[in-house]
Amino acid sequence: MDNMKVYLDNNATTPTDPRAVDAMLPYFYQMPGNAASRNHPFGWEAEEAVDYAREQIAKLIGASSKEIIFTSGATEGDNLAIKGVFEMYKRKGNHIITLATEHKAVLDTCKAIEKKGGEVTYLKVNREGFVDLAELEAAIKPNTILISIMFANNETGLIQPMKEIGQICEKHGVLFMSDATQAVGKIPLNVKELGIHLMAFTSHKMYGPKGVGALYVSRKSPRVKVTAQIDGGGHERGMRSGTLNVPGIVGFGKAAEIAMTDMEEDSKRVSKLRDKLEAALMANLEEVYINGNKEHRMPHVTNLSFKHVEGEGLMMTFNQNIAVSSGSACTSASLEPSYVLKALGLGDDLAHSSIRFSLGRFTKEEEIDYTIESLTKGVTHMRNLSPIWEMYKEGVDLDAVVWSEH
Ligand SMILES: *Cc1c(COP(=O)(O)O)cnc(C)c1O
Repeated sequence: MDNMKVYLDNNATTPTDPRAVDAMLPYFYQMPGNAASRNHPFGWEAEEAVDYAREQIAKLIGASSKEIIFTSGATEGDNLAIKGVFEMYKRKGNHIITLATEHKAVLDTCKAIEKKGGEVTYLKVNREGFVDLAELEAAIKPNTILISIMFANNETGLIQPMKEIGQICEKHGVLFMSDATQAVGKIPLNVKELGIHLMAFTSHKMYGPKGVGALYVSRKSPRVKVTAQIDGGGHERGMRSGTLNVPGIVGFGKAAEIAMTDMEEDSKRVSKLRDKLEAALMANLEEVYINGNKEHRMPHVTNLSFKHVEGEGLMMTFNQNIAVSSGSACTSASLEPSYVLKALGLGDDLAHSSIRFSLGRFTKEEEIDYTIESLTKGVTHMRNLSPIWEMYKEGVDLDAVVWSEH
């Protein structure tokens, strides 16, 4: 039991499904062609494999294969979508609306847009993590060209009301972009039904290999264009130059196909395990809080705050055995509380005391049992050592205590 290694950090990256690995292998040596080589069979078979993967991926999201642009991952997809739309639709306007709780790949791209003369509105979210639809609609101006809202949050698993957002975009003639990295392949979604015009996602968060992703760009009503961010041979219909990662794309395609067949089963099984973990920890321990809305969230994620226990310290009590994420981000000099949790209104203390558990296709029940046991022990141990916990138990109003400065 003590050398059990439990991986509950599937929102950071997922293992590659062995079935995807098998599909990739022939494309390293036996079929080494460049998909852009049009004049010999090696090139043709590589191109055929890429086209097949494009179909598999398009099918998963309800798009047509011509609407899939291969990238190196979701970071590149976010950059290409946002910068590409900003440059392409400059004459129409320069205003973009996004959320304070987006991934850095979107937020930092928006910061870069601001430096280039763009105007960006960062909408707040409520206590549960949802965007306010009335506020969103009110933020639209004549110069708004793009609304970029993530599908599911990477820290809390919260799913935004995508259909309603799509309707608002449609009503105002604004392009709708989504970073759907955490949702694609795990919950059913259809870009046409939701009115999404651009959508970035990545293979390594849905059991495919790392270093490959896709950007969906709508080709019909509306026909969307993005300015290329990488110039070169004009691959991917001129939107993204560079030799395609054929084995990676094949693995990504296979992962998409597996997602279509296994999604329902996976999500039922994994959400049961997630609920078991959550219920057991809340039963075993006092003062445990779920961060974000409980109903509209991804089936495999729970983000919990253990009051008066510092998350990073807690992780050290089982660090070698259980991989999770804490609500603190390492910056150069200090541990910063997660900006996503702070946007939900959590104080620094509760943000620092949070742990994200992200389960996955390969999570086993005995691993969850082991995690429940380790967490219960770890939290109890840390609270037993904590003078703050002792004061809290004695009924001292901690908010009223004046702490001396050092
Ligand atoms: C992981 C992640 C990304 C980055 O994806 P890469 O493929 O690693 O570049 C972007 N957005 C979200 C929401 C993510 O979870």
